[in-house]
Amino acid sequence: QNTEPWRDFDRSKVYMADLESALHYLLRVELATHNTLEGEELKIFKDLVTLVAKLYPGGGSVVKLMETLSDWLLSMPLQRIPYQAVLDLVDNKMRISGVFLGAELRWVGCQGSRAGLRGYPCSLWTLFHVLTVQHDANPTALDNTGLEAEAAPVLQVMRRYIRTFFGCRECGRHFEQAASVGMDNVQNREQQILWLWQQHNRVNMRLAGSLSDDPLFPKAPWPSPSLCASCHEEKNGIHVWNQDNVLHFLRHHYAASNLSPEYSV
Ligand code: FAD
Repeated sequence: QNTEPWRDFDRSKVYMADLESALHYLLRVELATHNTLEGEELKIFKDLVTLVAKLYPGGGSVVKLMETLSDWLLSMPLQRIPYQAVLDLVDNKMRISGVFLGAELRWVGCQGSRAGLRGYPCSLWTLFHVLTVQHDANPTALDNTGLEAEAAPVLQVMRRYIRTFFGCRECGRHFEQAASVGMDNVQNREQQILWLWQQHNRVNMRLAGSLSDDPLFPKAPWPSPSLCASCHEEKNGIHVWNQDNVLHFLRHHYAASNLSPEYSV
């Protein structure tokens, strides 16, 4: 049974509350399963924080928090950082200077019809789609971060994060498998947006009708014709995507201008 009140929302919008909740969960729940961060794990976490600090849309408290966290991580001479120190920074030190991340989960576009459905995994997909579109809109944002040399930095950081930290280990294995087949062929920012869209649709197809499928949000090829009619075409009686129109749609859907502040703190 879901004890949360239902929040009405518009499927053609992306909600800041979902992105903020994603980061809340990532920092306060997912990361908490790692007592210390060191070596490769620490590098992967730093890259994720840098990516979000540089590409998260709209400025505001989240960007400030991720920038402060990023500066702090980069300034640490330590090769080994206790998780408690990250939490202390996020929960206490930054709060004093007025920078904070919502202290609760508030799913909107990612709410499920009952507890345990949707939520965090939905918001993580949403976050990375937003970051691929933001990278396309701000191609120089990652200059001097060490990530600028990668052809598809958002996908590569996502791949490493999912493989190392994502609580759903089976999802991590599937995603790694897909990445090892096709991700290295991604050459530019447009392909980066489209690769993630295509991969997400493959996962939707695999999971349609499974236990994790929320009956109110059945998995289906996305965007539906009602969201983007021109994305769909028929050739010789077979459904095909119009990829130019899909790209156009994704750039609009995951753009800063389509982010709704409703329900956000
Ligand atoms: P989600 O699939 O989470 O989608 C969230 C929102 O993104 C949708 O509501 C829609 O607005 C939008 N969207 C949907 N499709 C696309 C698309 N193609 N492109 C852009 N936007 C889109 N679960 C498993 O059981 N097995 C797995 O192997 C697995 N692998 C995963 C791998 C990753 C990297 C992630 C982040 C999650 C994975 N999950 C897996 C979870 C699963 O994909 C869903 O996130 C979860 O079941 C919740 O589904 P949802 O209905 O909220 O929609």
